[in-house]
Amino acid sequence: MANTATLYINGQWVPAASGATRTITCPADGSDYAVVSEASREDTERAIAAARTAFDAGVWAAVPAPERGSFLLKVAERLRERQDEFARAESGDTGKRFVESQIDMDDIAACFEYFGRLAGQQSGRVVDAGDPSVVSRIVYEPVGVCGMITPWNYPLLQAAWKMAPAIAAGCSFVLKPSELTPSTSILMMDVFAELGLPAGVANLVTGTGPEAGAPLSEHDDVDLVSFTGGLATGKVIAAAAAGTVKKVALELGGKNPNVVFADADFDAAVDNALNAAFVHSGQVCSAGARLVVEESIAERFVNELVRRAEQIRIGGPYDDAAETGPLISGAHRDKVHAYVQAGIAEGARVRCGGRFATDEDGEGLSRGVYYLPTVIDQVQRGMSVVRDEAFGPTVTVETFTDEDEAVAIANDTNYGLAGAVWTQDAGRAQRVAGRLRHGTIWINDFHPYLPQAEWGGFGQSGVGRELGPMGLSEYQEAKHIYQNTAPAVTGWFADHQK
Ligand code: NAD
Repeated sequence: MANTATLYINGQWVPAASGATRTITCPADGSDYAVVSEASREDTERAIAAARTAFDAGVWAAVPAPERGSFLLKVAERLRERQDEFARAESGDTGKRFVESQIDMDDIAACFEYFGRLAGQQSGRVVDAGDPSVVSRIVYEPVGVCGMITPWNYPLLQAAWKMAPAIAAGCSFVLKPSELTPSTSILMMDVFAELGLPAGVANLVTGTGPEAGAPLSEHDDVDLVSFTGGLATGKVIAAAAAGTVKKVALELGGKNPNVVFADADFDAAVDNALNAAFVHSGQVCSAGARLVVEESIAERFVNELVRRAEQIRIGGPYDDAAETGPLISGAHRDKVHAYVQAGIAEGARVRCGGRFATDEDGEGLSRGVYYLPTVIDQVQRGMSVVRDEAFGPTVTVETFTDEDEAVAIANDTNYGLAGAVWTQDAGRAQRVAGRLRHGTIWINDFHPYLPQAEWGGFGQSGVGRELGPMGLSEYQEAKHIYQNTAPAVTGWFADHQK
């Protein structure tokens, strides 16, 4: 793929004003996958202007909501037709297994379908004012121009969680995907254009955060900035957005506890602990990177976890034997490795992994950016390895002796994105789920999410919610319209006015 006019602004494909480009490298084997435009602030400002003009002209906001919903259903249909092309592009940028990219595309289509159906059901609300001559109602209007900034781990999925509700609500937007993974966002704009979304409603700038992304959090003409990414960047964006008091939605990282009680189904719990930590090489915001296991089964449980982790087969997108893929970049792998090293320096023990994969671990692995699944025990709650998000294939092990201690450990984090509890005691499952301070709690499962269920974080995992009805509300303003059908003199200042 060689297309250097990859900015989509006001319905046109254009190169960066500076002419700059970036080569996208596939981390599975180091090959060059794509060349895209590298936008600067100037390009993003043009995209914001296009989105503003389209919004103010009402080219999409004035389209009846059920029609906006029908558009989203068509997007889903088109995406399903082009699923493999999109999945190849996702795997090209991220190196993730092709089958996983196909699953992502299915999930993305389901997200467009969900918001497509929801769009037509939004009729506002009538409020009883307690006075028969008053008509009081709440209407939901589009928030306006939205800036969307997204990460590289689930590139199009994270963008879809923003684009689908924004389109449903009648907003216009500028999307800035991760500079490492722009390819599927480019394809998506192609689908919007083909299906006739009016010019200026959807805009795309490919480039870095500080250049192409920053204006989306700073600019006066952007009404909402919705960001998914790391905590540090989230803080920068929130601070930048404060200057114009724009609305801010943040989906940040997690350090998610996976709590296993001794009475859990052992085999299912071990299998899911593996899944929780190592799917997509741990590059999942809700990864179960903190195993919190009851002392009485800990040794047996961790031995089995380590045994299975050592057998995980890693490889590229089209390696049928591979069970998980590479990290996104050499720089990211260095960060993950430094995190493991810091843990060792603090006294933790690496039970397996803890190093780059070599050709001895699998043919050709040294050409890509692979890291072995890593289990770390002998940790203390205050260690950085327990507190900070690694965003790689690592899991730490902590133990507890009773329910209160399990809850205290699981809640001892600045984050609060997701967590799980494993037990066959239904009462305990509900009790613990109720006490955990995280946005999603799984009982006897890990990782599933539903487009119709809200997703988001407590604590420093974020602000706001994606998916579900609240995921649409993020892109809406509630307006109260109060009509007095029998206007009369109030009499409040009557004496002075007579
Ligand atoms: P990141 O914060 O480095 O980058 C995210 C995006 O922000 C990228 O598009 C980047 O270019 C942009 N950016 C960077 N600096 C910016 C700036 N100053 N102004 C504007 N934009 C800027 O995150 P990442 O490494 O791409 O993704 C990994 C992180 O994303 C992890 O922390 C993970 O937990 C989080 N994540 C969270 C969720 C969730 O649903 N909560 C989902 C996926 C990923």
